[in-house]
Amino acid sequence: MICIQETQILTLNKYAETEYPAECCGLLIGRGTQDNLNIDEIIQSPNIAKGNKSTLFEIDPQIRLNTQRRLRNSPQRVIGHFHSHPDAPSSPSPTDLSMAFEAELIWAIVSVKNSVANGTRIYRLDINRHNFYEINYKVI
Ligand SMILES: [Zn+2]
Repeated sequence: MICIQETQILTLNKYAETEYPAECCGLLIGRGTQDNLNIDEIIQSPNIAKGNKSTLFEIDPQIRLNTQRRLRNSPQRVIGHFHSHPDAPSSPSPTDLSMAFEAELIWAIVSVKNSVANGTRIYRLDINRHNFYEINYKVI
């Protein structure tokens, strides 16, 4: 189970709506084991994808580096990342699958329809990295 605070869902929605019609993106910071994760913090990154930012995202590697440095002596770590799907459902795209190579990370995807956030779903890569599967989460 993954636990996320309601304020963080609202933060994700705000980022997704602000960047629309481009994809927003960033990091999920949290604690816990693979089966029992708490999301503590959301860090937005500029979308540095080269190409069409309404269908592509890329997180600034410097932001990840800085975050990992800051969390070095903390129980928290980068547990995943998020991005939005402008005018598309919150399910992973073939491009997402082609970019996924870190099996330990969770993927939060926010759907945005006509500039209004329309639900978030969370996924993880299967062990063979051939597919995503959805994971349930609880808003606390
Ligand atoms: Zn995507």
